[in-house]
Amino acid sequence: MPASALSTQHTVEQAKALALRAVDFLLEHDVAPIPLSYGVAYEYLSGGSPDLCRTLDEHLHNGRRIDAFLLRDLHERHLAVDRSTPLRTVGNDLQQLLGELTHNIEEAGRGAEEFGTALDTTLGHLAGDRDAQSLREIAASMVVATQKARTRNEHLQQRLQVTMAESEKLKVELERHRREALIDPLTGLWNRRALDHELDELMAVEPDAPLSLLMLDVDHFKRINDTHGHALGDAVLRHVAEAIRKCLRSDDHAVRYGGEEFLVLLPRTSLLEAAQVAESIRARVASLRLRRRSDNLMLEPFTVSLGVASRKPGDTRDTLLRRTDSALYRSKGAGRNRVSMDGDHGLTPGHA
Ligand code: GH3
Ligand code: MG
Ligand code: MG
Repeated sequence: MPASALSTQHTVEQAKALALRAVDFLLEHDVAPIPLSYGVAYEYLSGGSPDLCRTLDEHLHNGRRIDAFLLRDLHERHLAVDRSTPLRTVGNDLQQLLGELTHNIEEAGRGAEEFGTALDTTLGHLAGDRDAQSLREIAASMVVATQKARTRNEHLQQRLQVTMAESEKLKVELERHRREALIDPLTGLWNRRALDHELDELMAVEPDAPLSLLMLDVDHFKRINDTHGHALGDAVLRHVAEAIRKCLRSDDHAVRYGGEEFLVLLPRTSLLEAAQVAESIRARVASLRLRRRSDNLMLEPFTVSLGVASRKPGDTRDTLLRRTDSALYRSKGAGRNRVSMDGDHGLTPGHA
């Protein structure tokens, strides 16, 4: 189990009681008490993470299913902290590098000071009346000082080049970690963390530009999982992600929002345009014909439901997301395989 921010503040007796309740909770919801699910249940029942408790309470309140996938998502979003470890190592390396750079700069400063002192002394000697011999000696000592300064500079330059190469390597590594922390490994789309960041930024940077969201949920996905197994379910999710990607314009961003839920950010896009994009995704997914490689079995066609909403004055990230989610659930309620728009309660014609 990855390092996590699980609470550790309980006495043995309290922990024992919580442990039993956590296992009961999982069994009640038909979830195997594997460590990751157990950890989330324990944290939920102990009230240790308010955000986690709120999300799970909302789920229970809305009658949505609690399963291992949901608990894995919650763990990822609220408890897992191990992603920061590689960044910490990079941070340490960077600190060491900065230390070296500072040392090099100090040394360059000392070198320049020494050279300056040598020149001062020489100028002092030149001030007096000098014969040819002593002028030659002065010139010779200046040559020595210059040579010393040049050698020291060359040495420093080499060390700085090494330091620069190291810092370039670290920059690339840091960028890789940053990207990985924002990408969903199954689909290659952005994950929820990336969405939060990007959506906040879009709302702040372009406060008056139209902005729409599109939320998509695979219809009866549990059936696909139950009939063909989770591995094939995963493959279906990858195909849905690919279908979404193919319908997007260059500025749109697709996100794996949860297990079988996806979200698309459509900057500078009106509600109607967003509904058109949603419809093209719906049609593309409905026309997918997938065949299992291992035995050539043709999967039954499947569909997705979608909801779109556009930003209104005064919207925050959460209010906009909530309205998009409501539009999606109107599509579900109206029979699935359709697009609903926020606001006018309009539905595109049913396709179920
Ligand atoms: P609805 O049409 O109402 O959306 O029905 P549904 O069956 O799609 O919805 P429900 O929420 O009941 O089930 C979603 C299922 O998605 C349950 C969960 O096991 C599965 N799931 C969630 N994440 C993943 C994942 O990463 N991989 C796989 N294979 N299945 C997942
Ligand atoms: Mg769902
Ligand atoms: Mg679903």
